[in-house]
Amino acid sequence: MLIFNILYSMLFNKCSRCHQGDVFESKNPYNLSKMFKMHKTCSHCELEYEDEPSFFYGAMYVSYAISSGWFMIWYAIQSYFLNWELLPFAIFITVFIIAVAPLTLRWSRLIWLNFFYKFKKEYKNRKHQHAGINHNH
Ligand SMILES: [Zn+2]
Repeated sequence: MLIFNILYSMLFNKCSRCHQGDVFESKNPYNLSKMFKMHKTCSHCELEYEDEPSFFYGAMYVSYAISSGWFMIWYAIQSYFLNWELLPFAIFITVFIIAVAPLTLRWSRLIWLNFFYKFKKEYKNRKHQHAGINHNH
């Protein structure tokens, strides 16, 4: 299922195409000095993550969508369970969205990568080698 492939790649920081190589250098999204540091290519299937410098600009829209998602989840919890005053809720949601920003950024890039490079078994099973994938058929 496509959605599980995307979730796997997103949650485990894995290459969207082969699910083997890491995308971000640090496993921890809160390692702030390495927050934006990504590997240039996948160590397993040699996918170039950023084939042009503007590639990840589009990921911004994904990060807006994720931020809206956070907001909607908390708004639902607020409406059904918390029933806080508007101001404390507004402060809470602002702090929360800032606190999860590193995670949101990471997920948005991983999801963006998944839009362009879907998971394929033949890349997963491929042994690391320098010859092109087509030579294996
Ligand atoms: Zn890969």
